[in-house]
Amino acid sequence: MIHERSIADLIAARAAGELSAEAVVDAYLARIDRHGDTLNALITRTPEAARARAAEIDGALAGALAGLPIIHKDIFCTQGVKTSCGSRMLDNFVAPYDATVVERLTTAGAVTLAKANMDEFAMGSSNENSFYGAVKNPWNTDYVPGGSSGGSAAAVAAGLAPAATGTDTGGSIRQPAALSGVTGIKPTYGRVSRYGMIAFASSLDQGGCFARSAEDCAHVLAAMAGFDGRDSTSVEADVPDYAGQLTGDITGLTIGLPREYFAEGLEAGSREAVMAAIDEMKALGANVVEIDMPHTDLAVSTYYVIAPAEASSNLARFDGVRYGYRCADPVDLDDLYNRSRAEGFGPEVQRRIMIGAYVLSAGYYDAYYLKAQKTRRLIAGDFHAAFDQVDLIAAPVTQAPAFPIGEKADDPVAMYLNDVYTLPASLAGVPGMSVPAGFVDGLPVGLQLIAPWFEEGRLLNAGHAYQQATSWHTRRPPGFE
Ligand code: GLN
Repeated sequence: MIHERSIADLIAARAAGELSAEAVVDAYLARIDRHGDTLNALITRTPEAARARAAEIDGALAGALAGLPIIHKDIFCTQGVKTSCGSRMLDNFVAPYDATVVERLTTAGAVTLAKANMDEFAMGSSNENSFYGAVKNPWNTDYVPGGSSGGSAAAVAAGLAPAATGTDTGGSIRQPAALSGVTGIKPTYGRVSRYGMIAFASSLDQGGCFARSAEDCAHVLAAMAGFDGRDSTSVEADVPDYAGQLTGDITGLTIGLPREYFAEGLEAGSREAVMAAIDEMKALGANVVEIDMPHTDLAVSTYYVIAPAEASSNLARFDGVRYGYRCADPVDLDDLYNRSRAEGFGPEVQRRIMIGAYVLSAGYYDAYYLKAQKTRRLIAGDFHAAFDQVDLIAAPVTQAPAFPIGEKADDPVAMYLNDVYTLPASLAGVPGMSVPAGFVDGLPVGLQLIAPWFEEGRLLNAGHAYQQATSWHTRRPPGFE
């Protein structure tokens, strides 16, 4: 079956003339028709454009990913296609240009099938904050898929595309990858261009991807990554041939287990799965040592000051004047601003804007925002110290597997605490990945791997080695085989 084939296999089969891009795209579009509504994973579908593009590729185009179907998180601008960011505010917004990520993948020959559902403005951990409704977890449709890139993760898990893009500000690639049972990588901050990626918290936002395996991710990430003069924080560093460099050999690699990530709060089944994965890596030749990352417990409070502060500034542009939602019949300019924003933004986005404006206001700036910047530095310092001792960090992604839709919806703080294991790497800007590592009661568990700055290749290779030895990443949700 086409949807069971790996990315490397699909590309090779097309290059050898055994499989046309049209056949691959049609096979995936048929799966979207069949399963798309069940999961609510997609906001916009572009089947006609996808078919036309596939025909074009069959006519001529080569490119590293020629004919590879892909789904983009609806945070990435797509020229001529609605780009909603999961918000009523942008429900009527058709992007006039492509994000760099979209442009690069398209140039490499990827074919966009759809735009994925997501938490509004990427704020959330469960994908229940979308204006378009909650996304469902394919492993159990009463459960959340994780957020904020939940549509992307659920789509890959259900085989609606072999790969999808996502963004991770505080965990939004790793967390849905873990809860939906797929592989997801958040690169180093600055590795992937933020141009055309709608801003949430600019010092943290980073694009990345989901696929079924580390090897598949390696192909997609290589095409997305690299310097872009249109993003001032994009880093001028060469992008290695990630897939070509996968050896599957981790002999002699030193892996650190931070004690703080295995402390109270980690659910027993998840701990067991993560520890079994670490044992597997030991069996593959890695050395495992315990380390301390003493500022880990500051991450949630630090992040939930800095991210809202930056969001309150970034989201000021949605004023009902230039683009996006505008309220009906404003009586004056203040009314236009107030009602457009009150009606256009959902409750979680409004909460973040209020927190952000508060922590940045005179009198509170020093106590909250400045303090958070200082604690952010301490957290980054933990990673510097850790990577003096170890090559890689291994940890859980979440404290527990997916929870039922609605369970935490009325408790924002419980939702924020979900992010305890993913926020530190985001605050430090280091790359992180989640690989499927088992199940608890039929729901997937992820293993988080974290590498030093710009060592995505090391992450992907460790994930690949683990996946060569295990089969968790090959399991498919019942009903979506
Ligand atoms: N859960 C975090 C938040 O709600 C992270 C989201 C993200 O990474 N985009 O802000």
